[in-house]
Amino acid sequence: MRRTRTLAGIGIAATALLALTACNSGSPSNPGSTDGGDAGEDSTWFEVATDVQLEGSPTFDAITERDKVVIGVKEDQPGLGYLDVTTDERTGFDIDIARWIAASLGYDEDKIEFKPIASANREQAIVNGDVDYYVGTYSITDKRKEQIAFAGPYFITGQGLLVAADNEDIKSEDDLTADTTVCSATGSTPIQNIRDNFPDVPTKEFDLYSACVEALLSGEVQAVTTDQAILIGYAAQDPDNLKVVGEPFTEERYGVGLAKDDAALQEHINTLFTDGGDIWQAIFDKNLGSSGIEVTQPAVD
Ligand code: GLU
Repeated sequence: MRRTRTLAGIGIAATALLALTACNSGSPSNPGSTDGGDAGEDSTWFEVATDVQLEGSPTFDAITERDKVVIGVKEDQPGLGYLDVTTDERTGFDIDIARWIAASLGYDEDKIEFKPIASANREQAIVNGDVDYYVGTYSITDKRKEQIAFAGPYFITGQGLLVAADNEDIKSEDDLTADTTVCSATGSTPIQNIRDNFPDVPTKEFDLYSACVEALLSGEVQAVTTDQAILIGYAAQDPDNLKVVGEPFTEERYGVGLAKDDAALQEHINTLFTDGGDIWQAIFDKNLGSSGIEVTQPAVD
């Protein structure tokens, strides 16, 4: 994985979207410009499917009943799941994956409710039915599968390290010691990995990675650890003060979290990912194309 300093400045021209629509006609939800506007300004750039039936999906029944889809997301992870509080605009690779799924179910942007849910609270939110599905840097693990199901994977990254730009001591996970406090999110796979495999390294945890970044900037911790795709987004926002070091040292396979008893929705989303043509690539290019991250769409499980 390479790193660059810029993550912003992304967008797909309407013409490119229309070309994609033409290439993929007949698939349940193709990106398409409804008003000829730029995708960066128009977040409703997926063609919304009509007359969708999803036999045997309790989640889809609940969505139909309330005529709205409720999606759990992150909103402090630039490039992946981000809410700009000044414009109220949500952006990111995960957010567009979430919108693509909603469109395939027949739901446009104005019938989506995004709910921010922190890492530690995802399984419970899904089990409780507080969200219909969750798209937010959510690694597929056997432990989580005891409570919920995953569609995907739709993205693969790995655990990395973010340090202060002037830190010359920590160049990789091998440089973590009893004197380097590492911050990560409660309930995340990276904090667990540090505890299990780096037992001498002190940890600090918060609900949100953005709180860890604050702690790093103030000198309270010496590193933030989580998926490199997330860390690259923070470094790109503040390249004068932050840098990503080393190579990814785990494999994190992102899935869409959903209710364990909903095989119909799981299969629907997996089919969408498999048959989506160029749409995954368009979503990647729009949100992470200038990030330096090099990945291709993974095959679903
Ligand atoms: N992908 C990891 C996880 O699911 C870290 C990122 C996150 O906490 O969302 O735990």
